[in-house]
Amino acid sequence: MDFRFTEEHEFFRRQARDAVDRVIRPRAAELDEREAFPRELWNEFAALGYFGLRHPAAHGGQEADTVTSMIFFEELARGSCGFFMAATVQMLMGTYFLGRFGTEELKKKLLAPAIQGEKIAAICFTESQSGSDLAGTRTTAVREGDEWVLSGTKEWITNGPVADFATVLATTDPKAGLKGLSFFLVEADRPGYQRGQAIGKLGARASATGEIVLDHVRVPADHLLGEPGKGVTYVGDILNQVRVMTGLAACSIADEAMADAREYAKRREAFGKPIAEYQLIREKFARFWIQREAARTLLYRVAWMIDEKQECVREAMGAKWLATEMCLEAVDQATRIYAGNGFSTEYPPQRFFRDARFLLSGGGTHEVLLDFLGRRYLAE
Ligand SMILES: Cc1cc2nc3c(=O)[nH]c(=O)nc-3n(C[C@H](O)[C@H](O)[C@H](O)COP(=O)(O)OP(=O)(O)OC[C@H]3O[C@@H](n4cnc5c(N)ncnc54)[C@H](O)[C@@H]3O)c2cc1C
Repeated sequence: MDFRFTEEHEFFRRQARDAVDRVIRPRAAELDEREAFPRELWNEFAALGYFGLRHPAAHGGQEADTVTSMIFFEELARGSCGFFMAATVQMLMGTYFLGRFGTEELKKKLLAPAIQGEKIAAICFTESQSGSDLAGTRTTAVREGDEWVLSGTKEWITNGPVADFATVLATTDPKAGLKGLSFFLVEADRPGYQRGQAIGKLGARASATGEIVLDHVRVPADHLLGEPGKGVTYVGDILNQVRVMTGLAACSIADEAMADAREYAKRREAFGKPIAEYQLIREKFARFWIQREAARTLLYRVAWMIDEKQECVREAMGAKWLATEMCLEAVDQATRIYAGNGFSTEYPPQRFFRDARFLLSGGGTHEVLLDFLGRRYLAE
């Protein structure tokens, strides 16, 4: 066994951390307050060349392995949770299906500029009546001659208010349930495509999230990504990565919150000494460290399993659950260390506390994950 990162991984991490520390982290609080898509930062960060990490060199990407890209996502989440969401949709789910199934022409037109940050991507699953349960998808795609006609409303779409194109899950066979779902590429300048306003959010506020309405939007036949009816199978191929990425974001948010609380505990005095000298305060850091180490080790093991092409649905779900629960506990403890000041918008803990809530929906809600894991265990 060998639990070490390679020298290349370590070097890559230092570079990514430096970029995030320089370009994103100092602006995190301001971005959260402003609650708008940070276009300037987007352009600045895009120029650093990370958006193509998972894509082929032919389109300007770096073809990085899963472990390398997860190192990047972990570092990115240290900067700003909202920017992390906007950028990871661009890098993973928003461009994955286009990269895998798009025609060369479509990739030249959309993927290459997305890698440069010139075009913004979105991924559309969720609708008002279907979130966890994709079988409830009502957006339809109907074949008419050489075109598909899409109609429906997608909700909660990260980058929705600013996206230049979206990958949309729609049903091509409403009677077939999950087996009737297919992916389509839809450009925002097509007639009938409408972007909704950004909705107000509790956390991850540097990303713009909103509705996308498709009112009889016509796309050419080659905008169907993959085979009709195979959408859910394809989702399964990328979900493990999304879960590891979300889990590593949890580790980073927790790290930031607890590192900040550590400094506060060292300087804040009560009853004649720094509060860091009280055992009950020290215990919070001890528990956090143990749980963070456990979650992070499992997450990187899953990333390694993905690179090794091993079956790891269960491990990915478990790792995402463990990391998120660890993070929710850590951000709560950080606000307790700040006590009254933890309730003030002038201090950092409230931002981590709010941001951490997004982890509960990304990559599967915890009820859905636990239900699956429990059933798998009972079936053995
Ligand atoms: C910040 C943010 C960004 C997002 N970005 C995107 C995006 O870019 N694209 C996109 O498509 N969506 C996006 N979403 C939506 C997200 O994917 C959904 O919130 C998620 O899939 C859960 O669906 P839901 O909110 O409809 O909850 P529901 O599925 O309605 O769940 C409601 C409750 O019921 C529970 N539940 C559901 N099924 C079961 C079950 N079988 N057993 C036990 N309990 C169950 C859930 O755990 C939850 O507690 C985003 C959400 C947020 C918060």
